[in-house]
Amino acid sequence: MNRSSNIKLLNYNKKYDFIIIGGGASGLGCALDASSRGYSVVLLEKFDFCKGTSSRSTKLIHGGVRYLEKGQIGLVYEALKERDILKKNASHLVKQIGFLIPVYNYFIKFYYYLGLKVYDFISGNLSFKKSKIVNRNSAIELVPNVAKEKLKGGVVYFDGQFDDSRLGIDIALTCESHNAILLNYMSVESLIKKNGKIKGVVANDSVNNNTFSVLGENVINATGVFSKSIMNMDSIKLESVIRPSQGVHLVIDKSFLKGSFGILVPKTSDGRVLFAIPWLDHVIIGTTDSIVDKPSFNPLATQNEINFILENIKNYLEVYPNKNDIKSVFVGLRPLVASNSNSKSKDLSRKHKILVSDSGLVSVIGGKWTTYRKMAEKVIDLTLKNTDLPFVKCNTSNLKIKNGLINIDFSKESLSDDFFLSKELIIHYVENEMALNLDDIMSRRSRCLFLNIKESIRIAPKVVQIMSKELFKDEVWVKDQLQSFYNLTNINKI
Ligand SMILES: Cc1cc2nc3c(=O)[nH]c(=O)nc-3n(C[C@H](O)[C@H](O)[C@H](O)COP(=O)(O)OP(=O)(O)OC[C@H]3O[C@@H](n4cnc5c(N)ncnc54)[C@H](O)[C@@H]3O)c2cc1C
Repeated sequence: MNRSSNIKLLNYNKKYDFIIIGGGASGLGCALDASSRGYSVVLLEKFDFCKGTSSRSTKLIHGGVRYLEKGQIGLVYEALKERDILKKNASHLVKQIGFLIPVYNYFIKFYYYLGLKVYDFISGNLSFKKSKIVNRNSAIELVPNVAKEKLKGGVVYFDGQFDDSRLGIDIALTCESHNAILLNYMSVESLIKKNGKIKGVVANDSVNNNTFSVLGENVINATGVFSKSIMNMDSIKLESVIRPSQGVHLVIDKSFLKGSFGILVPKTSDGRVLFAIPWLDHVIIGTTDSIVDKPSFNPLATQNEINFILENIKNYLEVYPNKNDIKSVFVGLRPLVASNSNSKSKDLSRKHKILVSDSGLVSVIGGKWTTYRKMAEKVIDLTLKNTDLPFVKCNTSNLKIKNGLINIDFSKESLSDDFFLSKELIIHYVENEMALNLDDIMSRRSRCLFLNIKESIRIAPKVVQIMSKELFKDEVWVKDQLQSFYNLTNINKI
């Protein structure tokens, strides 16, 4: 992927079959679905691919065990089917991970076991291991750091785990192999209408500082929690409201949770579930669920949310982390769709919604990474129903996602001992994966900033020097990049 070449490919007189606004899971999924059916596609992302929620998830490819309790069997079934498809099509990224639900009461043990047997039953013979009950010794063997006092054993189940923004970039690479034109740092500023129908968008290129129009037969709004701002450009009055709910994750050292299993805390003090999950040699603990007034591109965790997570994991770990042990924090925003503004966030629907306006704007809101493919199929199918374009069937259920890092040598010298980031990798991200800013490399191509803030700050000057050579940038640029990066890490300070 090369941004300058892609800009040159844009034909300002052509009417593209699809213009997709937003380069997160939903937008990239739609771009892949439409381009692999043979339609012409342009995708415009305001910042970097997966800058929004799509790099800030809990990194699980899952059916959503917790939805079972609410009887949302259809939602769980669809996600489990998609989990299987994704494991097959992106096997380089989606791995099986085991979870222990530690139990301190025999009755509870059987309650969770029964629930997980339903989970197994719904997933049928899909390729994940079946859940089982384990005794105290086996539970300790699987999770050596589990809190042992009064431990009665546990229930073990399996789900999928991935690297979210890595999957996003790999989907983008796959889109390009189907001739889609993808551009980051292109913000859609307004919609072009003719006779009341949307016929294109006006976008601002924040790198070259210019504004241009792209024409399209269909415009898809896949801006997640920011969907309303695009709908406002279309003057849509929403009957339902989009309520951002924020989910905080803390990252701590691997020593707090040795082994390959995660822990699921089945009921936190606010009645949710909490995960502690090994990820890239660190441990993620999350998440929370609190409504916020306005969506932000750099959401911040509150002290209350951080304390909530630390308090709720405390009873499940032999040695539990405190604030000084937090290496990084990341926060994602759920675009929950509520039919009225009084609903509580944990009760709002996690299902995606597809809304079509009178002028033809198709907005896709909500859902999850796990079901991005199916959501995209539904969006493109529905959009095609309302156009004169010939209908071509979706083929993504058998479409392999490219592995952008297949030729990278991971044995090369790394700039850090805490995570892998080599000079070769930085050059690769710049040359082939449209990384333009330091934050693109530190947050979404590699995951350094998500893993260890202090260490990321330490290596940032070296990383930006390597980038500046590749991008032919001067010292002023280097200084600016470092300053913006420090500002970003400042707002993430715990
Ligand atoms: C805390 C949390 C944990 C989660 N964990 C999981 C999980 O473990 N597993 C799972 O399957 N799902 C999970 N999800 C759900 C999943 O992450 C989201 O459903 C998914 O990432 C949403 O993708 P999206 O593309 O709709 O939105 P986003 O990723 O937010 O993408 C929207 C994009 O639109 C861009 N944009 C905005 N305005 C404009 C504009 N004017 N012009 C151009 N572009 C614009 C933004 O920059 C952004 O990149 C989680 C969600 C949260 C909040």
